[in-house]
Amino acid sequence: MVVDVGAGMTNARRGVAILGSTGSIGTTALRVLDRQRDHFRVAALTAFNNAALLGEQVAKFQPSFVGIVQNGAEPHDAWNVGTACLVEAASRDDVDIVLNAIVGSAGLDATLAALAAGKRVALANKETLVMAGELVTAACVAGGGEIVPVDSEHSAILQCIAGRRGVDVRRVIITASGGPFRDWTSDQLAAATLDDALRHPTWRMGRKITVDSATLANKALEVIEAHFLFGLPYDRIEVVVHPQSVVHSFVEFVDGSVLAQLGVPSMELPVLYALTHPDRISDTGVPHFDPVALSPLTFEPVRADQFSAFSLGIAAGRKGGAAPTIFNAANEAVVALFLDARIRFGDIGGAIGGALDALGDLPGDSRENILAADAAARRFVQERFAC
Ligand code: NDP
Ligand code: MG
Repeated sequence: MVVDVGAGMTNARRGVAILGSTGSIGTTALRVLDRQRDHFRVAALTAFNNAALLGEQVAKFQPSFVGIVQNGAEPHDAWNVGTACLVEAASRDDVDIVLNAIVGSAGLDATLAALAAGKRVALANKETLVMAGELVTAACVAGGGEIVPVDSEHSAILQCIAGRRGVDVRRVIITASGGPFRDWTSDQLAAATLDDALRHPTWRMGRKITVDSATLANKALEVIEAHFLFGLPYDRIEVVVHPQSVVHSFVEFVDGSVLAQLGVPSMELPVLYALTHPDRISDTGVPHFDPVALSPLTFEPVRADQFSAFSLGIAAGRKGGAAPTIFNAANEAVVALFLDARIRFGDIGGAIGGALDALGDLPGDSRENILAADAAARRFVQERFAC
């Protein structure tokens, strides 16, 4: 199990690096941190290329380190430019917590560097754990760091099991909104457009995870994420569709008792909890919970036969080796094509399945092998599916 008891809240303000500060999670985190200046200071911010928003954030929060992966037209002399800025931000002495809110496998080196430096990684970037779960968990143990999930479902599981022994857990049940296509027929799904896929019913998120939610690839990523975070075998991780996104997950204990964590669909609380775990601090911005207003709460089985990306991802997780890496990389590559309107929604599952059939037996036992498998899956998707 990667997550363990945290250091506890101290009087010293803890330094937070936000990697991907201009994204959906990054901006949510800055909203939360703005209300918590007594407990935290923003030590480092990084973005990919949104220099305008990053500049506004820098002016407001005055971090000691600013990084941008691709500098745009407007040069900022004091900023660190290039991919190395992510690892630099994640390893700084004035950083205690690294919130990794980068999208995709680009976040891997920063996660590894933060863990090697003994930091807490507040992990939104689930792709890191899926593509290289064994590598990341080993880095966590070797470096003395810790991973605390930001994903709402995993935050819920952590909050339910916090302080209890892992052996007491019989199974976890991860909830899924079902996405915009929850009740669509297979004919409707085949004709689904990008606009349809980007219309998520309960969450406002970045474009890649929004498409992952429409294909249910996101839920497969989350099952693999839970496997590595909590050290649970796959037959003790289940998924149930819960369209209201109020119950964020369940944990069933060996005596049959079931705990759940509930809240309105907002990422502010999971982000805050990843910073304060195992402690809690008051945050007046977290929306008030009103069970009557939020009712009824309903649950349905996952239609795995209609959402092949979901079944393929779970099978890849169970298979192990480089299969989760292939699943993640093929999914990233094919979603990028879909977001560029170069393939249809109905092609996504086939592309992931093709990559897993061709490359799923590759080894995943070293960083080199993982990076090679990741690259091979992207090449496979490009060569066969990019028109
Ligand atoms: P966004 O697309 O909104 O934001 C991504 C951020 O990462 C931006 O700051 C972007 O910079 C930066 N970025 C993008 N590509 C790179 C790269 N190659 N190298 C460095 N930085 C990069 O994504 P989200 O905030 O929605 O998601 C971030 C992560 O959190 C994902 O892994 C997602 O699965 C996970 N997550 C998100 C949730 C949500 O509610 N949004 C919920 C649970 C998990 P720029 O703006 O300059 O392009
Ligand atoms: Mg989630």
